[in-house]
Amino acid sequence: MNAPTTIAMAGERMVVVVAHPDDESFGCGSLIAAATAAGAGVTVLCATRGEAGERRPDPVTDTWPLGLLREVELCQAAMILGVDDVEILDYGDSGFSGPLEPGSLVATPIADVARTVGRRLAQLEPDVVLTLDGSDGHRDHQHLRDALHIAVASLDRPVRIVHSCLARSLMSEWAAVMTAAEPDREHLGVADLGRPDDELVAVDTSAVLGLREKAIACHLSQASPFEALPPDLRRRFLTTDFVVEHTPDADAPTSEPTDPQTHQLAPFEGASR
Ligand SMILES: [Zn+2]
Repeated sequence: MNAPTTIAMAGERMVVVVAHPDDESFGCGSLIAAATAAGAGVTVLCATRGEAGERRPDPVTDTWPLGLLREVELCQAAMILGVDDVEILDYGDSGFSGPLEPGSLVATPIADVARTVGRRLAQLEPDVVLTLDGSDGHRDHQHLRDALHIAVASLDRPVRIVHSCLARSLMSEWAAVMTAAEPDREHLGVADLGRPDDELVAVDTSAVLGLREKAIACHLSQASPFEALPPDLRRRFLTTDFVVEHTPDADAPTSEPTDPQTHQLAPFEGASR
């Protein structure tokens, strides 16, 4: 295969900080696979076990606790993507909306989450950290992103922060497909999903498409956001990744918990997340 474009080079360490099992595959699996193929070491820190999600019926696993099932799926996917290590940070899954359970990620003050993430980053000594940009509207993604910014700022060495982003042009096509498929779903008015294309850097990850597809398929309990898409759109989602290198002063993180009432958009990453 051709050498993939990568955000982490041979010998570098990348820590991927995500909120739920499947974020690493549905969200940024190609960036991980490209980095490990290039020789970078990768650790995934996953804040929750995704236990607030829905699940697809499966007679083999229906009796498993969803969090355990999703942790197993995460580990399977991570192995395919070439990840060295997976760690769960033991926060509760906040869910996309609704009341927050004590101990859930969004119920935990950002400063506390930042301290926990910062402690692990200080030990792992990454050159680059990768997280989702939160432009899918999921409150867990946004809360963790903001905590990560604070955590990296607390480190005594420079670390690149890369956001894995959703391109607004692709998201509008995605929303059109989903609206046609589910016309009664009121909250698919998603004009603000994704980030404007001209803010993003495109990364050709077509060389690792096969690994990305295999990693996505590990998450059997979840409906991927790509499965209802026509083949051409699916391929465009999965062969070009969009990133932004976060500049710390560009959008100062807040120390306030994410307001769950401000996120009313439909989840991009499957019906369950
Ligand atoms: Zn997620």
